[in-house]
Amino acid sequence: MSLIVAKFGGTSVASPERIKNVAKRLISIKQAGNEVVAVVSAMGKTTDELMGLANAVNTNPPSRELDRLLSTGEHVSMTLLALALEAQGYPAKSFSGRQAGIETNGTHNKAKIVKVHNERILEALEEGYIPVVAGFQGIDANGDITTLGRGGSDTTAVAVAWGINAEICEIYSDVDGVYTTDPRVAPRARKLEAISYDDMLELSSSGSGVLQSRAVEFAKKWGVVIHSRSAFSDAQGTLIKEEGQMEQAVITGIAHDTSEMKVTIRHVPDAVGVAALVFSALADKAVNMDMIIQNTSLDGATDISFTCPASDLPRAREALDEVMSKIGTDKYDVDEDIAKISLVGTGMKSSPGISAKTFKTLGENNINILAISTSPIRLSVVIEASETQRAVQVLHTAFELDSDSVFEETQLSAEEIAAKMKKGR
Ligand code: ASP
Ligand code: MG
Repeated sequence: MSLIVAKFGGTSVASPERIKNVAKRLISIKQAGNEVVAVVSAMGKTTDELMGLANAVNTNPPSRELDRLLSTGEHVSMTLLALALEAQGYPAKSFSGRQAGIETNGTHNKAKIVKVHNERILEALEEGYIPVVAGFQGIDANGDITTLGRGGSDTTAVAVAWGINAEICEIYSDVDGVYTTDPRVAPRARKLEAISYDDMLELSSSGSGVLQSRAVEFAKKWGVVIHSRSAFSDAQGTLIKEEGQMEQAVITGIAHDTSEMKVTIRHVPDAVGVAALVFSALADKAVNMDMIIQNTSLDGATDISFTCPASDLPRAREALDEVMSKIGTDKYDVDEDIAKISLVGTGMKSSPGISAKTFKTLGENNINILAISTSPIRLSVVIEASETQRAVQVLHTAFELDSDSVFEETQLSAEEIAAKMKKGR
């Protein structure tokens, strides 16, 4: 017998019919001889709708009130799920964040969980109930309701799993696991049986968003094993856990991100302190730099390029317009049609030649590299956005990630890939 936490996302509880299916699923987990605790998100787009309501009456809603309002989404879904379980003959008890003992700090809208008081959940289990916990919310030291940031129900699930010492935290959603790359971009993408916390975190921050990063960070810190799987099938998904004995590929996955832009400042005087001036100005406007490239200088001047989220463009322009005259240049170009392709793998640490193979593969396929950056377990290259799909596919093949089975072939234009990514945010 195992103690299992099963979290269901918004899509899985979007309608009464789907809630009844979730109830069935929980019952089958229990019938297989396990104890189960459910964690739920709000139904469908409820959180967005509540946000819209708040903005309709106040364009700058105070965060305490907003949290109070947003938390009600999960109150609805948890109660409906408990009712559905009861209707199918299984006693259930719903718990708000407060009732479930999720204690957080006081940072409204993105609170951090500091403690899980597990007594009531354990007591309900003991009495034979299926506890249903509202995701995404907690309570701070003042007794005020807090929320954990968008997608925060994943974090609640991990915290509850840790708090009651569950064997596994199953996260059910409309994706059936973690893939070597986005199957819509590379039809030969392969579902991973397991992935390490570090690879998962690096893939998430490089543009592939299956789970809330914070949930993975917490899982790593607390040693909670996550199983990301489909709410609509019984298929085995992907385990996210400590690397340990898992089969070690050199490259675990390839992520792509078209949400960044590249700025190049031309003819920057090659003098001490100039870079500091430019990047301080950008930092003052909270521009979130990713890569920085400085070319060798010719005749005492050089080009400096950097990448940052395209949404930072207005602020980057303000900063640059201010600093340009100070450094004696007025030229900078902005290129929004770029994509960052990232190869991720803990196995990279012990395998030389990844960069060479990447550059060679792209070169042979006539794909030009605009910028490069690395971490111990990631290699990222910036290319033209229109080459995204081709680059992902040729690298996926070169690093032997291709699966034998093929997803339906899709040809996505750069615009479609960009639109898809922006939508996911
Ligand atoms: N309902 C919240 C949101 O939409 C939390 C979650 O879904 O995890 O962000
Ligand atoms: Mg969600």
